Amino acid sequence: MRRLMPVVGVIGGGQLARMMIPAAVALGVEIRVLAEAADSSARLAATAVGDYRDEATVLEFARGCDVITFDHEHVPQPVLQALQAAGAAVRPGPDALLYAQDKLMMRERLSRLGVPQPDWVRAESASEVEGFLADHGGRAVVKTPRGGYDGKGVRVVSSAAEVADWLEGGAVLVEELVSFRRELAQLIARRPSGESRPWPLVETVQKGGVCAEVIAPAAHASDAVERAAAEIATSVANGLDVTGVLAVELFESSDGRVLVNELAMRPHNSGHVTIDGSVTSQFEQHLRAVLDWPLGDTSARAPWSVMINVFGELPQPAIMAALGHQPAVKVHAYGKGPRAGRKAGHVTATGDELDETVYRARAAAAHFD
Ligand code: ADP
Repeated sequence: MRRLMPVVGVIGGGQLARMMIPAAVALGVEIRVLAEAADSSARLAATAVGDYRDEATVLEFARGCDVITFDHEHVPQPVLQALQAAGAAVRPGPDALLYAQDKLMMRERLSRLGVPQPDWVRAESASEVEGFLADHGGRAVVKTPRGGYDGKGVRVVSSAAEVADWLEGGAVLVEELVSFRRELAQLIARRPSGESRPWPLVETVQKGGVCAEVIAPAAHASDAVERAAAEIATSVANGLDVTGVLAVELFESSDGRVLVNELAMRPHNSGHVTIDGSVTSQFEQHLRAVLDWPLGDTSARAPWSVMINVFGELPQPAIMAALGHQPAVKVHAYGKGPRAGRKAGHVTATGDELDETVYRARAAAAHFD
């Protein structure tokens, strides 16, 4: 049968790929997933199980797809380059993804773009770390350039000895310990043809280095902060030629500056709130953007939307209790087996009053404690 609609191939079978599936179904787009395991979160659409680090596996998967995109940023550069050389439309492309893969390269690139960020330095030795500490009040945040997530690979230190193990492995990123009022995230989607659309700025609340709650829009954000965040996201998306969804994690510093923490080039936890809270969800928009289709309206469906992550597991009795107790709250389960600390789902409440919306989201989430 001749295909009338495009096929999007997603590398990685986690919850982000899973949540692209209903959006693809609605658009009539075919979605295929290269998953790590047969029981992946995205198994409903998984058409291949294989190692995303293996060039032959990835090239074979890409053969049947019109565009390749991602559930995570871990596909090695040589594999991305080989995909491109084979003629695949890789979105975002390797030259953009590099800056979501390596925090040192990101800091260097954003400095050249003139985007506001914390003071930082690349350090290869204990004396370079000590030098930065001496200039920044004796404390700093040290990060491994690659492989960090959910706060792993991030340490607040007051001496180089605390990162001696990391220095043995190569250069680290040392950053000013930002005194911040709160953390924000600015999402934007951009098409290869250049059109981009930001969503309203959101606040992310972290617990133990992990995102716990998202409040959309960010409450009481000044026009200046909103404008700065949108300008940063637009200049990063254009400057790095990002296609698809770009999430810019930001600090609103105590002195009112907006500084970039890090970048993600895919749908992002801070955007889950858009599924129930926005005219166009980040998952639908990501598909539209990587296909170079017209982008959707990003405005909010309700004055407030609040998303709370659920860790560990969402057993059916708890889901049913949450649904019964809070009929207007939406429960999203990622179809993962139980594992302590792992993001297993989320709940979203929408409403006219912030306090009441937070209350309803927390009341539903409490069923999973
Ligand atoms: P990950 O890649 O693990 O998500 P991040 O770089 O986002 O790591 O850091 C995790 C958390 O650590 C951030 O959400 C923030 O709360 C805190 N953090 C990171 N960098 C800084 C910094 N320079 N100053 C203050 N806090 C920071």
